[in-house]
Amino acid sequence: MGTVKLVDLKKVYDKNVVAVEKANLEIAEGEFLVLLGPSGCGKTTIMRMIAGLEEVTEGKVYLDGKDITNLEPRHRNIGMVFQRYAMWPHMTIRENIAFPLKLKKYPKKKINETIDRVAKMTAIEPYLDRHINQLSGGQCQRAAVARAVAYEPKIFLMDEPLSALDAKIRESMRTDLKEIQRKSGTTTIFVTHDQAEALSLADRIVVMKMGEIMQIGTPEEVYDDCEHMFIADFIGTPPTNFFDAKVKVSKNGCKLINEDFKIEYTGKYVESLKAYDDKEVVLGIRPENMTLATEAEKSFISLKCGVVEPQGAFKVIVIYINNKKVKMVVNGDRKVKQGDLIHIGYKKNKIMLFDKETQKRIR
Ligand code: ATP
Repeated sequence: MGTVKLVDLKKVYDKNVVAVEKANLEIAEGEFLVLLGPSGCGKTTIMRMIAGLEEVTEGKVYLDGKDITNLEPRHRNIGMVFQRYAMWPHMTIRENIAFPLKLKKYPKKKINETIDRVAKMTAIEPYLDRHINQLSGGQCQRAAVARAVAYEPKIFLMDEPLSALDAKIRESMRTDLKEIQRKSGTTTIFVTHDQAEALSLADRIVVMKMGEIMQIGTPEEVYDDCEHMFIADFIGTPPTNFFDAKVKVSKNGCKLINEDFKIEYTGKYVESLKAYDDKEVVLGIRPENMTLATEAEKSFISLKCGVVEPQGAFKVIVIYINNKKVKMVVNGDRKVKQGDLIHIGYKKNKIMLFDKETQKRIR
């Protein structure tokens, strides 16, 4: 087992610093859950409260249905992997993995079998008899994961475990981690401020801002179906383009109008939009949901192409709409260059509309 439930979990530090505001969350057995948000939004604090390293101000933490809010950390059976691997330098990797198992009074045979199994899982078999200072950053991190897996905790907590690694190792280690987690089947809570890391690792992502949970969903949901302008801006590179537009309710739907363009909106939320007749809303379109159209096709605006940034598989095209910089992403093989007159279309079902005041999604 390894389910976690947080109920109205709150943390206030000294001097009334509210780090976490009533977090409610259920984590399923075997799930890979990522806490994502900018620096200081309370991710680590949530993690530390689950581990028992931080006192809870209000609310409850449950592990497998049992209230562990006030249980000593060592009785929680939680494995942790941090940014700095915290391996004992005077021991070999084998000894590092074996040590906690000895404390658990595993027989020697079981310890050796466990070491073989986790070393294979994390591909560190060749390094078992080395010390930590004889390994690369990626190997150290895999060894730290191996030690955590060997301990067979009910859940893993990982706080930015890849952030000390350089970009290339970080990317390959990301895949390794996901594969290891799938093999071990251990419920995992992973903290990061890197949206690409969150999207690639998570079964579900919890997006946080200033101590509050803004959205919980699969990577596809938090990317394509954002609850809040903050999320549409924070997740995805380049970020979502935003435009102010006035709503005009018409017979067969709504029009979104500003001085640069007019868009017919017939989407899913047309009924809710009617309450905004004659008011301004914010229209959000992701760069890849803007398309290069032919003149004959329906485009919502035609203008001169700005700089083009080829990225291999795709190109980023920069345009200016009313002095506002807008980015769109097209296939790498599209022939387009700075100065060309381009006609821009959009994928109708991918438009997101937000309340201008609350910045929340209009649904
Ligand atoms: P980062 O990505 O930078 O690690 P985070 O999202 O993990 O950030 P936390 O470390 O949980 O954020 O911090 C949340 C808030 O609580 C921040 O405003 C931080 O300054 C504050 N905070 C954290 N620890 C303490 C502490 N021991 N005493 C007082 N305030 C704290």
